[in-house]
Amino acid sequence: MIDTHAHIDTEAFDADRDEVLKRAFDAVVEAIIVPDITPAAREHLKQVVDQHHRLFRGVGIHPHHAGQISHQDIDNVEAQCSESKVVAIGEIGLDYFYDFCAPDVQKLYFREQLRIAKSHDLPVIIHNRDADQDILDILEQEQDGSLRGVLHCFSSDQHVLDRALSLGMHVSFTGNITFKKFTLREVVERVPVDRFMIETDSPYMTPVPHRGKRNEPSYVRLVAEKIAEIRSMTFTEVQSATTATAKGLFRLALLLACTFIGLQAQPRVPNEDDFERDSDYEYAMDAYSADSAAYERLVKPRTLGFGITLGSNTITERRTFRQLYQRALGENVPMRWREVTQDTVASFSYPSLSALGATIAYQLTPRFLFEGTYLYTKNEGERAAYNLPPIVTNIAELSMLYALNPYNKVNFLPQTGVTYAHTNDGITTTSRFGVIAGIGAGVSIPTSFGTFYPMVNVRFDIIMGTQTGMVTSSFPVIDGEISTRWFNPNGLPRDEALRVALEEGRIQEDPAKPGEGVYLHRYQNPATGKVSLSQEISDVTTIYAVPRLTLLFYPKF
Ligand SMILES: [Zn+2]
Ligand SMILES: [Zn+2]
Repeated sequence: MIDTHAHIDTEAFDADRDEVLKRAFDAVVEAIIVPDITPAAREHLKQVVDQHHRLFRGVGIHPHHAGQISHQDIDNVEAQCSESKVVAIGEIGLDYFYDFCAPDVQKLYFREQLRIAKSHDLPVIIHNRDADQDILDILEQEQDGSLRGVLHCFSSDQHVLDRALSLGMHVSFTGNITFKKFTLREVVERVPVDRFMIETDSPYMTPVPHRGKRNEPSYVRLVAEKIAEIRSMTFTEVQSATTATAKGLFRLALLLACTFIGLQAQPRVPNEDDFERDSDYEYAMDAYSADSAAYERLVKPRTLGFGITLGSNTITERRTFRQLYQRALGENVPMRWREVTQDTVASFSYPSLSALGATIAYQLTPRFLFEGTYLYTKNEGERAAYNLPPIVTNIAELSMLYALNPYNKVNFLPQTGVTYAHTNDGITTTSRFGVIAGIGAGVSIPTSFGTFYPMVNVRFDIIMGTQTGMVTSSFPVIDGEISTRWFNPNGLPRDEALRVALEEGRIQEDPAKPGEGVYLHRYQNPATGKVSLSQEISDVTTIYAVPRLTLLFYPKF
């Protein structure tokens, strides 16, 4: 159910607004639209609406106040109608019952606000008291196909209804249809099922049996029940029809869906960056009381969470191989003797195998989260075809996550940080540092033991720099075989391959480690004819794409 008209911002609710709203939302009121009355009260109205996810508002000047305003106020209506949570222009209209303002002035401002609504594609909420004829005439003149709206608290006759409907208007019914003296049952009966909505007009128009007391949004149910009775529909039918109509007219469906998944623009909380102060903490708890349990972890800073991480790791790298001299054949030559003789660029991609790890998270403020993760990953790719073992990478990440919307159930978290990767591909062992870029989403699930916080991340660990691999020195033994294409092209058994390679002069025992079974690749520089033993060095840019699911748990201490 949607209460399409309730003045929940007024003084009447100052003492117990939160309880009133809780009652309404507990009684399956999905949303409440709070109309604007006067510029003087608009700031307060805005604050009230911003503090509750299911409240939306109109912006506009009520005919009661038409006598106290200027064109500047009308310009302000236009300027503010694209603010967040504004779903209508209203309430606007004509009221000839009270003598607050001359009809001509009322008509002028009514017309101007209708035009604002049209140019901003917003529906209008129209207040009409004893002004049927003028309202209909103005609507007729202004209707160019783009005017949408509702005649709220509809209490005119069938003739007015028919004309309003033909002008594309909707109507909404309030508590007055439950009064004994209500004479317009026929109107309620005859209005098409998709053209009417329900409202309370709280704190006024209190329905039976609460007449004489303050009205409140939860009583909108009584209006729906009365309509069901008059129209011989079920309550559920009235509920779903009026909800669908209100969602359509005020375009609430997407807004409400966004509220649910937490995409909605953040309510404006003053000093939110200073949240560690008690006063702000209390303010936040108060403001988000509707969902306080879900926000608890986020609002209370400095909590420690633990979790496991499951994912995959796809390695993509671009490698510039450099053949460098390390030592001249038969004699020790210092490293500064290095000389680049050839560069070859190649790109590799190793499809993901598994990534498994552990995470510790530390919440510094509602918005900032630090996370340390250790991941163990294994990649194979084409390596098996060359008789090579998988690449085993141990990744340690230190990252900072920033919650874009810390007070929602679902949080979106861009992340950055540093990473350290230790790789062992069975031939070379390297350690390098890099940077992290990623985005994640987490869901706060409060339990009695603490907050469960599953998080999905897509994270890239980007590592650039020189990789020095002691290629030749650790070549000989890989699962008992000498492998790699150039060292053992025929896939011979280890001893046989060693004998052949030595015979052909492709390898030579490392003069620095005689008798230890360590062999170096022998390289002859074609330009100088000089023969060297080499070590391979590459410039490598490596990207680890590590999508993952992290199951975090923040226990209650
Ligand atoms: Zn009204
Ligand atoms: Zn009203």
